[in-house]
Amino acid sequence: TKFSDLNLDPKVFKAIADAGYETPTPIQAGAIPHALEGRDILGIAQTGTGKTASFTLPMVSMLARGRARARMPRSLVLCPTRELAAQVAESFDTYAKYVKLSKALLIGGVSFKEQDLLIDKGVDVLIATPGRLLDHFERGKLLLNGVQIMVVDEADRMLDMGFIPDIERIFSLTPFTRQTFFYSATMAPEIERITNTFLSNPARIEV
Ligand code: AMP
Repeated sequence: TKFSDLNLDPKVFKAIADAGYETPTPIQAGAIPHALEGRDILGIAQTGTGKTASFTLPMVSMLARGRARARMPRSLVLCPTRELAAQVAESFDTYAKYVKLSKALLIGGVSFKEQDLLIDKGVDVLIATPGRLLDHFERGKLLLNGVQIMVVDEADRMLDMGFIPDIERIFSLTPFTRQTFFYSATMAPEIERITNTFLSNPARIEV
């Protein structure tokens, strides 16, 4: 598979060329065609496999059209740690270089005020840790009814950190019609249960 076979938005394709990537990694070649067809994805992959681009590339392609409304993010990426959330945010900057997308990073250690201002302006991609996202929700500052695409990254670490109840709550606050990309390095029974509950006929890609 070549990147040019993947049907990505031309602006995304250009950003990939700038990044110097020559060929898609197996998780990218496996996930991107299904993602662009609107299917849910269950990615079983470790860090270092190119899994971040396997969801950010189709997301930027799909979000390139349309605009976010105030306090209603169009997509949501949940990460277990601040560090991972910051890396995912950088990945969006790289691939959305030629696409106008608004983005907000909701992690602890940053003032709510700054994050509120971004949410008020309308966000295409909201990247968050589960606790911080729910803090904003409880404060009545954002709605998740507009989420079209939701990503759970490193679910096995979410499980280790006790975030599964938060993840279930967040799933239930987003529309049933959302598209879901779910990534885990391993499939513990608890993870299997969550995917059976919240994913709809996912394409399963194991690398
Ligand atoms: P990840 O597994 O998402 O943490 O990505 C691991 C690293 O691989 C990151 O530094 C990416 O920039 C890089 N990468 C992702 N996809 C490709 C690709 N198709 N070709 C070359 N490098 C890539």
